[in-house]
Amino acid sequence: MAYFDGVKVVLEENEYPTHWYNIQADMKTLPPPPLSPASGQPAQPEELARIFPVALLQQEMTHERWIEIPEPIRQIYRRWRPSPLFRARRLEQELNTPAEIWYKYEGVSPAGSHKLNTAIAQAYYNQQAGIKNLVTETGAGQWGTALSIATAFFGMTCTVYMVKVSYEQKPYRRLLMESYGGSVYSSPTDRTKAGRQILAKDPNSLGSLGIAISEAVEVALESQDTNYALGSVLNHVLLHQTIIGLEAKTQLAAVDRYPDVVMASCGGGSNFGGIAFPFVQDVLTTGAHTKIVAVEPEACPTLTHGQFAYDFGDTVGMTPIMQMYTLGHDFVPASIHAGGLRYHGDSPLVSQLYHDKVIDARAYRQTQIFEAAVRFARCEGILPAPESAHAIQAAIDEAIEAREAGTRKVILFNLSGHGHFDLSAYDDYLNGRVVDVPFSSEWTEESLSHLPKVEL
Ligand SMILES: *Cc1c(COP(=O)(O)O)cnc(C)c1O
Repeated sequence: MAYFDGVKVVLEENEYPTHWYNIQADMKTLPPPPLSPASGQPAQPEELARIFPVALLQQEMTHERWIEIPEPIRQIYRRWRPSPLFRARRLEQELNTPAEIWYKYEGVSPAGSHKLNTAIAQAYYNQQAGIKNLVTETGAGQWGTALSIATAFFGMTCTVYMVKVSYEQKPYRRLLMESYGGSVYSSPTDRTKAGRQILAKDPNSLGSLGIAISEAVEVALESQDTNYALGSVLNHVLLHQTIIGLEAKTQLAAVDRYPDVVMASCGGGSNFGGIAFPFVQDVLTTGAHTKIVAVEPEACPTLTHGQFAYDFGDTVGMTPIMQMYTLGHDFVPASIHAGGLRYHGDSPLVSQLYHDKVIDARAYRQTQIFEAAVRFARCEGILPAPESAHAIQAAIDEAIEAREAGTRKVILFNLSGHGHFDLSAYDDYLNGRVVDVPFSSEWTEESLSHLPKVEL
């Protein structure tokens, strides 16, 4: 039986989840199909099979509710899973709140974030399909690190296009990827047509996730034994991450709790979907009234200020066109420290749920989230990744609201990763160099007006 040791909830082996949860089984409205960038018609599986293994494409499209986790993946998960669910008692005391704050901590993975949950799964299915190399993009370096570890486990090589601004801000992230055997390039590079096209327009481009994705997809399209891997956004990635929410649900049940509020930072949506979807299931199927909140940066406010439209997943226009909230595929967000949240689009599943008002979203300024981060570190002892600090700020706001209203409530958030490789960001914050960057919505109009006409 699971038990609470006063600090964290510990599960027994027979309580570990054996299946991932597929929310497509329970959604009232499903996102419309992705469109081919070449034809503007629904993308054909053969097109996608040039860069993804069939098993992952099946997971992308299936409506089956529970997908069994293969034993070789579970075997690797056991190195750090189940991840701990902590009660943030010291933070509660500091805030003098009647609310309970619980957080799931994904920073215990060897990669330091939740991203290894899907990296392991993606590497496994690609290896089963005979693939020898995986190529990908990375923002802050978290995804590139996770995929470098996963490919090392499965005997594949890993090539990573790292957004230039992060490449320069986070040299230790690059070294970490290289230590695991990854090859890392500062994107935009002159190694690809996509990169050269961007550099011709702007030789000083800071890069963006959208640009790095274009480069990686181009490389994957060029050879048979090379596939592309995406760290967020797609349905199969969110599916793999539901291990977080499924464990959290079992852990909370062990202490007789059910959350009133579930929160997570949201870049491409996998961290958010990972913790939230098993609770969204209850909202959709049993009428639970849980408040579910995606938290994003004001500098890249995809859900709160984007448009719900068909758009490319990358900048150059090589990926399928998806219906999602977007700031426009050539939007280049300001160079904020939460690099993992600098994406112009969002998961189609998360976007549809937000559009249907099943979930909420809110945005915070960069200076706010660093204040929350150091406050949390000094209470709870964990230095959070700047991305994760968005969820901390949201949890603090909920706890203060509970104090003011004099109500008890149970708050759950996902602490998606630690900030040990973000110390230059903390250096900037502690020395007054972190500033808030305003967002201008003209970008979206301008950017979406460049989208080729799509026949629906
Ligand atoms: C990548 C990342 C995020 C954002 O994840 P998405 O799944 O793209 O929303 C949040 N926190 C950390 C620590 C990350 O590395």
